[in-house]
Amino acid sequence: MTTTSTSAPHPRHALLSGWGRYPLSESDVYRPDRIAELQAVVTGNSSSLIARGAGRAYGDAALNDQNRVVDLTRLNRMLSFDASSGLLRCEAGVTIAELIDVFLPRGFFPPVTPGTRFVTLGGSVAADVHGKNHHRDSSLASHVTWFDLMIASGEVLRCSREENSDLFWATVGGMGLTGVILELELRMRRVESAYLDGELIRAGNVDAAIEAFERTDSQYGYSVAWIDCNSGKSALGRSVLNLGNFATLDRLPRNLAQNPLSTTPKLSPLVPFDFPGFALNSLSVRAFNAVIWALNREKAAHTIFDWESFFYPLDSIRNWNRIYGRRGFVQYQCVWPPAGSRAGLIEVLEAIARSGRGSFLAVLKKFGAQEGLLSFPMPGYTLALDFPVADGLLEFLDTLDAMVLKRGGRVYLAKDARMSSETFRAMYPNLSKWQAAKSVADPGNRFSSSLSRRLRMTE
Ligand SMILES: Cc1cc2nc3c(=O)[nH]c(=O)nc-3n(C[C@H](O)[C@H](O)[C@H](O)COP(=O)(O)OP(=O)(O)OC[C@H]3O[C@@H](n4cnc5c(N)ncnc54)[C@H](O)[C@@H]3O)c2cc1C
Repeated sequence: MTTTSTSAPHPRHALLSGWGRYPLSESDVYRPDRIAELQAVVTGNSSSLIARGAGRAYGDAALNDQNRVVDLTRLNRMLSFDASSGLLRCEAGVTIAELIDVFLPRGFFPPVTPGTRFVTLGGSVAADVHGKNHHRDSSLASHVTWFDLMIASGEVLRCSREENSDLFWATVGGMGLTGVILELELRMRRVESAYLDGELIRAGNVDAAIEAFERTDSQYGYSVAWIDCNSGKSALGRSVLNLGNFATLDRLPRNLAQNPLSTTPKLSPLVPFDFPGFALNSLSVRAFNAVIWALNREKAAHTIFDWESFFYPLDSIRNWNRIYGRRGFVQYQCVWPPAGSRAGLIEVLEAIARSGRGSFLAVLKKFGAQEGLLSFPMPGYTLALDFPVADGLLEFLDTLDAMVLKRGGRVYLAKDARMSSETFRAMYPNLSKWQAAKSVADPGNRFSSSLSRRLRMTE
């Protein structure tokens, strides 16, 4: 690409955070709406820069304290679509919500989606996000055929499994540190309806939950469990599994089959203000979990879920992150390899029960294989937990890190706000390969973030 004389847009000085609202950081934020403007931001100044999509990473991945941030949400055009192959070409600022709005009525759904649809595709590739179908379909990268990456020189490189493949595997899961993803090609999934045909299974403890995941593994393409972190003893880890496949027309009741791709969105209530710190204490969390367990009595073999309640229960309360109060919260997501999963889960759940910190929302999921150099998933079980920021929390999470590490597991960078550099190094064995690819594309380390400095990712 030739250099243009377009100048960078004026930045706005802003206080930013991730979805967890912890930590806060100050930056100059640029919001280009053309590639030439973005190129001027990347090359016009050698100080540190990081891309930001919808800001749904929980911690400091899309933060760059006292440095520059480039917001990609205006580069959000859909460019072409081939209905016979499902291949979609679009800019990185397009969100999963926009994909669903446009394509679900036409019989296509994103191949992988995280638990919120309010994320950009650029941010989703950079975190190599996983969804409820990871055990069967792996993460988003498996469905991306190529992307165009603007590297530190301002040059744009096409990256795929065949072309610049080292950079492809360093960028998926690379948390924006190899450059800015401009455009990508993604294979959408063909679906017959906007409904899922599945079941809810109540599992009385950790062993029953693992047994239910293993038993239903080949039957259901999508699976996830809500797990009660407050129950103990023989009910430790009691869970409710949500399982499903996109429903074919012959599985739908007649009233739904008449309009199978309808996507009428639900009304989204707002959390009107920050909840006071005392609102979420161990008693309210315990009560909430007991109600969920009681409500999800085992249903008949088949349940039809609409796409929105199955994939995005949290999106129905728009700014639910405010329930944790002004100090914010930390999401802790870890994964263990198969051999360490059962013992690891029990150990972490027991530590949470002992600490009295009960996680309000806790999710358990089985993972499959993974390829990106810094991608989070590995075959085994993953647990995601939310903890309001409170005295002693960071020390407590360090003890969880040690438990996860000793069984060969790791913590997810897109959720992290506090892990130590030493722990990160021990958890991500492909770091040196990733560093080699990063240093070719970004020899001066122009792309850096609060996360990359905290974890000393380039040292
Ligand atoms: C309610 C909720 C549920 C979630 N559930 C899941 C889940 O099930 N599975 C899962 O994997 N994740 C999940 N996440 C995390 C989320 O999917 C990821 O953090 C994702 O990266 C957010 O995308 P974003 O557009 O908001 O990116 P941001 O948060 O803005 O940025 C995330 C990272 O991507 C980089 N980035 C952003 N845009 C670009 C670009 N164009 N080029 C290069 N780098 C870029 C940033 O530098 C940063 O490192 C969840 C988050 C929330 C809030």
